[in-house]
Amino acid sequence: MATDQQQQAAKREIVMSGIRPTGFLHLGNYFGAIRNYVKMQEEFECYFMVADLHSLTTHPDTKELRSNVERVLAENIACGLDPDKVALYCQSHVPETAELYLYLNMMAYKGELEKTTTFKDKVRQHPENINAGLLTYPVLQAADIILHRAKYVPVGKDQEQHLEMARNFVNRFNHRYGDVFPEPQAFNYNLELIKVPGLDGKGKMSKSENQMATLYLSDDDDLIRKKIMKAKTDSGPTAPGTPKPDYIENIFALMKLVSAEEVIKKYEADYDNCIIRYGDLKKQLAEDMVLFLSPIREKINTILPDKKYLKQVMEQGAEKANKSAGATMNLVREAMGLKYF
Ligand code: AMP
Repeated sequence: MATDQQQQAAKREIVMSGIRPTGFLHLGNYFGAIRNYVKMQEEFECYFMVADLHSLTTHPDTKELRSNVERVLAENIACGLDPDKVALYCQSHVPETAELYLYLNMMAYKGELEKTTTFKDKVRQHPENINAGLLTYPVLQAADIILHRAKYVPVGKDQEQHLEMARNFVNRFNHRYGDVFPEPQAFNYNLELIKVPGLDGKGKMSKSENQMATLYLSDDDDLIRKKIMKAKTDSGPTAPGTPKPDYIENIFALMKLVSAEEVIKKYEADYDNCIIRYGDLKKQLAEDMVLFLSPIREKINTILPDKKYLKQVMEQGAEKANKSAGATMNLVREAMGLKYF
């Protein structure tokens, strides 16, 4: 007889998401993904993964992989993720991922994969390493998600297209072999998906590009101030109703993530009245950012050296993820007619 708690757990909807261990996590990872992980862990059955296999598509050198994996785990936990409430695991610890990836690859077409925006970006960035793993990245990502039959995927805006592809693969599978998978959806509590912009007015914050335009969760207070004070501005609007240029819009966008509402209102009004002083705006943003990031950094610094704890987190996560993956793959093999005995 199931206990109330077990029945409750059985009813919870399933959530899956992952982050690649390709460097230090940043404000974009936090607001695009981790903030929702932390909220969702209270209400859903959650699988959050360090996507180490994905990182091999662009980072084939594995010398720093272990320390990067430990960093992603520690940084997630420092942001409030509780490994007892979720499955926090490493992708390579769930071998069924590779099996499902193989099956889904038979339903993914070269043309659609080549059209993927992230593939085209990566081809531009690394013309010397256009490997098949890179091309089929959205297939592996779909396998990660549906391996747990997840319905919701908390991600930033850059992942919207991948989720659409995952739904296509799911529909093709279900149509051909029977209804095994729910259609996964990108999730941000009924809000638009987020893109945290870089401080240089171009593109988004990212782990590996543009380090001075990206605020990392581990940056020290002075570095945070320095990066923000260097953000591009101009001499300010001269006529009311002047639209904000992108680089100013971005500073306000960052302020909306960490500053109090009255503070934002004041600077919006100053902008509208053409009396805004960008030096003051950036100082205010820098101080609010320091207040936001420094407690996270301190937690990272206490968790990261505890290798024994991080190993235990990985083991515990692998156990939960393997249980769920095993159950799904039984259904998949059955549906596909691959169970011969
Ligand atoms: P990645 O760092 O590419 O492995 O992405 C991990 C998660 O962070 C994904 O859900 C991304 O959508 C999210 N993410 C990464 N960069 C940003 C950004 N600049 N703004 C919003 N979300 C982001």
